Amino acid sequence: MKRKIAILPGDGIGPEIVGEAVKAIEAVAARFGHEFEMTAYPVGGAAIDATGTALPPETLSACVAADAVLLGAVGGPKWDALPSDRRPERAALLPLRAKLGLFCNLRPAKVWDALADASPLRSDIVAGGLDLLVVRELTGGIYFGAHVRGKDGLSARDDMAYSASEIERIARSAFAAARKRRGKVTSVDKANVLETSKLWRETVARLHAAEYADVALEHMYVDNAAMQLVRAPGRFDVILTENMFGDILSDEASQIVGSIGMLPSASLRADGFGLYEPIHGSAPDIAGRDVANPLATILSAAMMLRHSFGLDAEAEAVENAVRTALARGLRTADIARDGAPSAGTRAMGAAVCAALRK
Ligand code: NAD
Repeated sequence: MKRKIAILPGDGIGPEIVGEAVKAIEAVAARFGHEFEMTAYPVGGAAIDATGTALPPETLSACVAADAVLLGAVGGPKWDALPSDRRPERAALLPLRAKLGLFCNLRPAKVWDALADASPLRSDIVAGGLDLLVVRELTGGIYFGAHVRGKDGLSARDDMAYSASEIERIARSAFAAARKRRGKVTSVDKANVLETSKLWRETVARLHAAEYADVALEHMYVDNAAMQLVRAPGRFDVILTENMFGDILSDEASQIVGSIGMLPSASLRADGFGLYEPIHGSAPDIAGRDVANPLATILSAAMMLRHSFGLDAEAEAVENAVRTALARGLRTADIARDGAPSAGTRAMGAAVCAALRK
């Protein structure tokens, strides 16, 4: 198979972790006989420094022309003082998602056997295993509504809007994902207060009754979901939710499984095109020191192989290589036990590649 991948390393630890994921993709290409053409383009603060804008037109057109996009992370203190509409996160990530039509964000969170003791939750709470998937709507809701500051500067408003068709589209993705997993969807909203949530609940229930009655569906308020995630995380299979709730709940889920450095994500369009990135940010506090965990980015590359290229065996090979590296006892600082020795970004990446070559 021949595929073109746009590589957007971004800022902070972005270039380090993406570098290791690129090596893993090359190892997959060599082992399975594929050709992945990978070209890097500037995005975020690095692009502001180089071109004056966080999402240069050449970067956007390269993403549009590619078969998939692999992104590190953007942002950092150097660009924090810019007006908010020019800052890397707002001026690069939101337009990228919107212009590429990436409405479906998949964020799997699971406890890896070798890291069972990395969860901050009591061992009896995670004992049954923890493997959930957050399906988050990504191009609607409050992040994409108007953000308005009153003329006197002392009042502000952010608009939250959803249409039934937007809700139905993301709900289909969640029901389809549940059919391939344990067959349960928890739809999270705030229908006791928000009108958008009432529409969300009605639409999800209607679609479920009409087309997905074989999948178990429950509705849950977002405040209860935040509580249940730490009280009984094993009860969840697929969590379906809107943009902002999904942002917050998936970060909470990331902590339950141990480290944010382990969690990949996919942002998909209906035709399978996708942008893949770790869920963490650019971690400026550890950038350039060869200590960042590259596994979330490597696992994001595995999601790319599976969701955009349909290469299930290759994706599994990457996941197994991560499992092997962890089983060998290799730990980056974020997942090492207090005081235990840790491996660097490059050593962890090399261990995954070595396992892939076997
Ligand atoms: P962050 O996720 O970058 O870091 C939070 C904490 O987790 C830090 O202590 C960091 O060292 C640690 N961490 C993150 N990734 C790690 C990894 N792979 N290995 C080991 N430790 C890791 O969040 P933040 O500090 O709030 O944000 C830093 C910058 O990133 C900000 O400019 C923020 O706006 C941006 N950001 C970007 C994205 C994105 O590009 N998608 C997402 C979130 C935050």
